[in-house]
Amino acid sequence: MSTDTTGGDEERRESFWAWGWADRLPSDEERRELKSRIEGMLGFPERPLLDLPELSDVDLPPAAVEPPEDLACEWTTAKRDRVTHTYGSAYRDLVRGFHCRFDDAPDVVAYPEGESGVRAVLEWAADANVAVVPYGGGTSVVGGVECGGKGYAGVCSLDMGRMDDVREVDEHSRAARIRGGATGPEIRAQLADHDLQLRHYPQSYEFSTFGGWVATRAGGHFATRYTHIDDFVESVRAVTPAGTLETRRLPASGAGPDPNRFLLGSEGAFGVVTEGWARVQPRPPYRANATVRFDDYWDAVAACREVVQARLTPANCRLLDANEAMLNEVAFDGSSVLLLGFESTDSLPPIEADLERAVEIAESHGGRLSEGPATEDRTAADDADEAGAGDGDGAEGEDGDAGEWRDSFVEAPYMFNSLVSMGVLVDTFETAVTWDQFPALHDAIQERVTDAMQEACGAGFLSCRFTHAYEDGPAPYYTLLAPADVGRELEQWRTVKEAASDTLMEYGATITHHHAVGRVHRDHYHEEVPESFLEALRSMKRTLDPEGIMNPGALL
Ligand SMILES: Cc1cc2nc3c(=O)[nH]c(=O)nc-3n(C[C@H](O)[C@H](O)[C@H](O)COP(=O)(O)OP(=O)(O)OC[C@H]3O[C@@H](n4cnc5c(N)ncnc54)[C@H](O)[C@@H]3O)c2cc1C
Repeated sequence: MSTDTTGGDEERRESFWAWGWADRLPSDEERRELKSRIEGMLGFPERPLLDLPELSDVDLPPAAVEPPEDLACEWTTAKRDRVTHTYGSAYRDLVRGFHCRFDDAPDVVAYPEGESGVRAVLEWAADANVAVVPYGGGTSVVGGVECGGKGYAGVCSLDMGRMDDVREVDEHSRAARIRGGATGPEIRAQLADHDLQLRHYPQSYEFSTFGGWVATRAGGHFATRYTHIDDFVESVRAVTPAGTLETRRLPASGAGPDPNRFLLGSEGAFGVVTEGWARVQPRPPYRANATVRFDDYWDAVAACREVVQARLTPANCRLLDANEAMLNEVAFDGSSVLLLGFESTDSLPPIEADLERAVEIAESHGGRLSEGPATEDRTAADDADEAGAGDGDGAEGEDGDAGEWRDSFVEAPYMFNSLVSMGVLVDTFETAVTWDQFPALHDAIQERVTDAMQEACGAGFLSCRFTHAYEDGPAPYYTLLAPADVGRELEQWRTVKEAASDTLMEYGATITHHHAVGRVHRDHYHEEVPESFLEALRSMKRTLDPEGIMNPGALL
């Protein structure tokens, strides 16, 4: 049945073009302040302050298809719903949204409340040759939810937002059954009744969903150990056009290829992740933190490697290069900064000792302790003190450098909105590579991406941090800013993005450590994996999705 999703006047709405809530869009005063900071700090030419777009400026073609009125799932063809389901949340999405370009809007948006609704949509879509795009929080940065629908009668975005609950908690085994559309804060609030947490904190935590995390193999913000959602997933259940697929709940298994891997990273191309069991844990109240500064970046890299290779498993082991430290207002003296944080559910002494050893290693590589070591016992703290996306880096409750870093980390996506509205190209790309390859890769990225920004935009700024650190290599995450010509932003972005992606491939790195493949990374993903593996993936798709209606163009 069709539904009216316009909501009452009181309903808090997400922006139709930008990251996050519409009521958090920047004021003109905030934008002026940012503009002068960007021009001053980065030396960019004067940036224009463009008017923010209105939904009434958007023209949409009429919907090409409509489901039957008696479809056993609510759906709509309303303009706001179609517009807000057209793109994810990457720079190129924000730019197109800002310029009111929604040419590839889906025709229909469906809102299932349960698996029967999902099945009804898939059955209708298979009969009517309609492409179905599973939609979680729409925070994809790789074109995961946009689908032109070429060769199809139309496109249906299947919004999982109403399947947002934690259905069951097994406190004994410490696992929870979570439905696909539950966002980070929704999961957190429901697990709080059990004094448990999932503790998977991607930067997009506020809006992204459990199903989206599984489908994209999302990375959280613990630097070691629990890095991807994969590490938390016990079992997964999905509705595919060929039927329902559910894996067995197991703490571990050595029985052949892992069926969870059919769905982890499937990006909506095989079916809809409706729910899964995930490992949960109590909040770790004991914390130990320190900050170490280095004059030389490569000394800092060596220290970081030695810390993880000593198997100290810090929750936070974030290495900021000098540009990243400056951008996030952590250091302005040209030093690279290593933020170290340990946490424990059990007691302080072991993590105090681990931190002490990590600092000792850092100092042996020329590091200067600039903050800490500090310890915290938050056993008495209320869980609500930590609520919100502010805990997304696993460093909640911290002051000083780590707190500065965390605040800027949480605010960054909102700042991206402002930057787009003043003609600044702002994007991130990330990867993982072995330690032996990292220096050559990093140097090549610095040179080629900076050259590409120079060529396309006349200037540019590049910074790097490690989001995760493994014993055999880091996961570097690059942020780039460049002055863009309004109207030519996508062309300029493409030049820079190609330089970055081609360099990752040439130096043996992965096209993505956690941002997923989608449509933007698809060709490079195909280059990265063996051809026979791709053939097997294609045949798996044919088995689970014989009509090829599931998110065509993503992944495959
Ligand atoms: C500001 C910002 C910060 C980010 N930070 C991180 C980060 O720290 N770590 C990280 O890993 N990623 C990050 N991302 C990328 C993005 O948030 C992740 O890829 C996230 O997992 C997507 O979840 P979602 O619910 O928003 O999915 P969507 O964006 O809605 O969809 C992503 C893909 O998954 C598919 N999909 C969604 N739900 C389902 C489902 N239930 N069943 C089947 N397929 C589904 C979609 O079809 C699409 O292909 C960030 C993005 C932004 C904009």
